[in-house]
Amino acid sequence: MHKAIVDVYLVSSQYHRRETDMSVAKARSAIRSREAQDTPAVNGQSEVAGKRSGKAGEWGRAWEVDLFTSLGVIGLMILFPVMVFYFFVSCEKYQCALSGPILDIYSGKGVYDMWQMLPKATWSAWKVGLIWLTYQVVQYFVPDILHYILPSYKGGVQLGAVTPAGNQMLYLVNGLQVWVVTHILFFANAFYFKLFSPAIVFDNWGGLLWVANTVGYSLAAFAYVKAHFFPTSREDCKFSGNVFYDYMMGVELNPRIGKWFDFKLFFNGRPGIVAWTIINLSFAFKQYELYGYVTNSMILVNFLQAIYVVDYFWNETWYLNTIDICHEHFGWYLGWGDSVGLPYLYTLQGLYLVYNPVSLSYLHCAIVLTLGLSGYYIFRDVNHQKDYFRRNDGNCIIWGKKPEYIQCSYTSSDGKQRQSKLLVSGWWGVTRHMNYTGDLMGSLAYCLATGFEHLLPYFYIIHMVTLLVHRCLRDEHRCKCKYGKDWDVYTARVPYRLIPGVF
Ligand code: NDP
Repeated sequence: MHKAIVDVYLVSSQYHRRETDMSVAKARSAIRSREAQDTPAVNGQSEVAGKRSGKAGEWGRAWEVDLFTSLGVIGLMILFPVMVFYFFVSCEKYQCALSGPILDIYSGKGVYDMWQMLPKATWSAWKVGLIWLTYQVVQYFVPDILHYILPSYKGGVQLGAVTPAGNQMLYLVNGLQVWVVTHILFFANAFYFKLFSPAIVFDNWGGLLWVANTVGYSLAAFAYVKAHFFPTSREDCKFSGNVFYDYMMGVELNPRIGKWFDFKLFFNGRPGIVAWTIINLSFAFKQYELYGYVTNSMILVNFLQAIYVVDYFWNETWYLNTIDICHEHFGWYLGWGDSVGLPYLYTLQGLYLVYNPVSLSYLHCAIVLTLGLSGYYIFRDVNHQKDYFRRNDGNCIIWGKKPEYIQCSYTSSDGKQRQSKLLVSGWWGVTRHMNYTGDLMGSLAYCLATGFEHLLPYFYIIHMVTLLVHRCLRDEHRCKCKYGKDWDVYTARVPYRLIPGVF
């Protein structure tokens, strides 16, 4: 396995520098020293990937599934797509009033009438969707040159985290470049060459919903089959034996096609997140086309969400170490989530503003902007503090002084006793997940930018609260299993999770 990793490294190092310029010997030693360190033993049992060696403390998915969970999984896979179509119809036919379709059904509209309201899967939408996907795949393989130009940007070939089976993969990090090139091409083709209307996304939004769903479900099906017949790393697979659960939560940890096409990095980061700002721009252009002006609320939503998107790409290498990449397996949850959930649910504010062009007072704008920017600042600074602290093994300065921390020990998958540090200074002394709090503040700001007329644009904050609270509880469960009593010392020292004095 070491050999395979180093082989990949050798290929990549031919055209990348800085981190990837390290010698093969350095790569080997980095792999040896990090291998298995991140994989805790669970309740005294080693988590040997691919085998049933313990349940508590594992992230992401279970080994065994009961009837209740199976039914829940099936229910969610039906409910979520229905909900997204429902939101679309509410906007398209009822100006985003969620009560619209229900009231119509209540007042006697039949199933056929409702079916007629659904968007049509047009050929034009298929063309847009498939060209977009193909374009993103091609861009994914274009070597990154931005990291040569921007000194503090980390791109090019980067080493990911060690998996439970001890694999460590290399990733092609060029998301920022793809984002920049895509936006230049969008503006050039829409305004200079006039190949398409800048409102192209909005104009095909209904048809694209079918395309996105087809991609999401097919992707999960492909990942499921691939895991059974040609997995990238059999040792990093988790099978529960329940078809629905495995389809939804995924089996493979890091499915790939060939050496470089990584499903998680690609689908998590490219077609959906690059599209996010293009979708918002398209909504803004549609607003202009319909009313002759763009509202300050639309500008705010575009601006605040663009900061979040650019931040994602600027820190793409850092994201290789987040829970999504390190612990979630790839199935419907990620495949459908990236293909439909992200583009359709994260952009609801912009869509709403096309149908409801809300103009905000200066005070309202100032509140939204302050909340959005301070949320973003907290989110970024908290994540940076942990990264900085861990990279320097505690030998650094946080908020003007040497940081305090709790020295923790845990048993890794190779049975060895390992050491880690939990920061209790800076933001990490305020609550245990201030990065989530900052994220939630930003999310609330997007919603507040749409005014208070309808519930639909507030779906995003409801979704983010549910997602991050659930994630916070799952993460703490994993940390408790990993660090045992040391985790209790940490939680006693920093008693709150998200909001000091409240939760
Ligand atoms: P974190 O970056 O918070 O990582 C959690 C891990 O950090 C823990 O498992 C533990 O790992 C380590 N840790 C916990 N406490 C400490 C401490 N005091 N000192 C040092 N290390 C600690 O979680 P995520 O990966 O979930 O989130 C990353 C970012 O992504 C967040 O800002 C989140 O808001 C954002 N996000 C956004 C989403 C969206 O849809 N917009 C979805 C998900 C995340 P270890 O085992 O190493 O100790």
